[in-house]
This record gives sequence, C-alpha cells and structure tokens, in this order.
Amino acid sequence: MQALKYARAASVDEAVKLLQEGGPTARVLAGGTDVIVMARERRRHIELFVDIKHIDELMQMTDGADGLRVGAGVPLYQIYGDANITKTYSALAEATHVIGGTAIQGRATIGGNLANASPAADSIPAQFVLGGVATIAGPSGRREVPVTEICTGPGQNILQPGEFIVSIFFPRPAAHSGSAWERFIPRNEMDIAVVNAAVALTLDGETVTAARFGLGAVAARTLFVESAAAAIVGKPLTDATIAAAAAAAREAATPIDDMRGSIKQRKHLAGVLTEHVLRKAAERARA
Ligand SMILES: Cc1cc2nc3c(=O)[nH]c(=O)nc-3n(C[C@H](O)[C@H](O)[C@H](O)COP(=O)(O)OP(=O)(O)OC[C@H]3O[C@@H](n4cnc5c(N)ncnc54)[C@H](O)[C@@H]3O)c2cc1C
Repeated sequence: MQALKYARAASVDEAVKLLQEGGPTARVLAGGTDVIVMARERRRHIELFVDIKHIDELMQMTDGADGLRVGAGVPLYQIYGDANITKTYSALAEATHVIGGTAIQGRATIGGNLANASPAADSIPAQFVLGGVATIAGPSGRREVPVTEICTGPGQNILQPGEFIVSIFFPRPAAHSGSAWERFIPRNEMDIAVVNAAVALTLDGETVTAARFGLGAVAARTLFVESAAAAIVGKPLTDATIAAAAAAAREAATPIDDMRGSIKQRKHLAGVLTEHVLRKAAERARA
C-alpha cells in the first residue's frame, strides 16, 4: 500500500475543493472496493482519498413518481433490497445483486462501478438501458450527462479535474415496460463477466414501442447497442424479431481473446444473453 492522505468531505462543495486542491493524484473514495485495491497494488499513483460517503445528499435514494435517484454513496445492497426498485428497475436490481458478494455490496456503489469504467462492469449495461443520467459536480457547478457518455475506454471517463458524480437518475419506465440483466461467468459467483447484457423495453400489445440494449465485456467500453433496438422497435415481438435483435448484438460485439473467453465465445454469448434478457424483460412488461 502506498502512503496517502485521507479527507472526509462533509459537502459536495468541500469534495470539489479537496479534489481540485489534490490535483491529478487525488481520488474519490466511495465504497473503495476498486480504488483501495488499485492503491494497494500501486496500479495508480494516489496521494489523497476524498471520502464522499459522509455527504448527506450522496447517501440518499429517492424513488418518486418521475423516477429513481441513487446518490453516489448509496451501497448496492440498498438498491436490490428495495422491493419497488426490484419490480420497476429490475435490470439494475439484478446487476447490483451479483456484484462481488455480501461484503462488497455493503460498501460498493453504482457511481464507483461507472466511474471505474471497466469494460466488464456489471451495473453499466443496466444503467444504460434504464436511461440513467449522472449529475456531476465540479468547479464550474453541476452538469447532467447521460451514463452512455461517461466511459471512454478501459479505466477512462469524461470527468474533469475536481469533478465527481453526485447521483444517477433513472426516469420511471412507461406503463407496460420491463427490463432484465444477465451475465455469463464460469463460476456461480464472485467472478468477472465473460459477457453481460441488459435490455429495457416497452410493449403496446405485442408490438415493441421502445427498446434499449446494453452489452458489457465485448468491447473497450460498455456498448449501447442501437442496432439491436432498430431490429425490433415498431415490430411485433416474435421469435424472428428476437433473433434479429440477438444477431445485431452479436454483430456489434468486438471482443478480445483473453483468459476469460475467446472472441468466438463472447460474440456467441452476446447473442444468447440478448435473447435471454429480451424474453425475460418482455414477460415483465406483459405483467
Ligand atoms: C472481491 C471483489 C469482487 C468484485 N466483483 C465485481 C463484480 O462481480 N462485478 C463488478 O462489476 N465489479 C466487481 N468488483 C469491482 C467493484 O466492487 C465495483 O466496480 C464497485 O461497484 C466499485 O464501487 P466503489 O464504490 O467501491 O468504487 P471505489 O473503489 O470507491 O471507486 C472506483 C473508482 O471510481 C472513482 N469513483 C468512485 N465514486 C465516484 C464518484 N461518485 N464520482 C467520480 N468518481 C468516483 C474512484 O476514484 C475510483 O477511481 C469487485 C471487486 C472486488 C474487490
């Protein structure tokens, strides 16, 4: 572990100030389940941790008529532990429920999962399909950015010096909507996704009126697969249109070979998981 300083921010403004003063070697500390490992293994040069878990606004989660706002300090277990969220924002509940294990879920956050920008991050496809918008605070005030635009590459994001994510907002899905998330891992738990996938869709009868697809671990960053939506929106949900969306997901995937899976296996899984989540989300939309 490298020697570093720790500062506990009590407000958003104080966190911005501390991050600005700390410069490029200052890091936000949310759950710490990624960043403490990085510091311990000296994978990043970090001189200051700015703890954001003592800022009231960041520890709030509100599920209102317009949507769900998750503060960037809220631990994962509170998300999937809420029955209304599990029902209405199923993809997010499913993803947060499998990240790490119980100990990790007691600390880790979806803001940390997003900012860390791992191509295999489990909550990011769910955040994409549920239309997440991040509120970012920084030296020039606040700005809103769709989560689809936050990650730019492995470990890279758009956050500027002094900026951090305050909360993520998910608009309430329209009536007759459903979402689902799945991943493939070789073990039953505590593993990094070979591929993960999520979808959110809205039905009018059996016609798909809206759909959003997310795929992880098949490119340098999580993919927002608009071609899969184009294959199915405005059409009836049939075996043929589901197969067309799955084929579009396979096509969009540009994975690498590594110790977890081959290109061929990952492209195949992108299609299989897309079909799975689509069928599951449709059942939920019908219910
Ligand atoms: C044993 C173990 C198992 C794991 N299993 C999984 C898994 O199954 N799936 C998975 O996806 N991940 C997994 N992870 C990785 C990690 O738990 C998740 O990525 C988690 O969501 C990170 O959240 P955190 O709050 O702990 O982030 P932190 O570690 O606090 O931060 C991660 C990075 O994001 C930055 N950051 C954090 N919050 C903010 C913010 N609000 N604004 C700006 N920047 C911020 C930090 O500075 C740091 O660079 C695992 C980790 C461990 C140790």
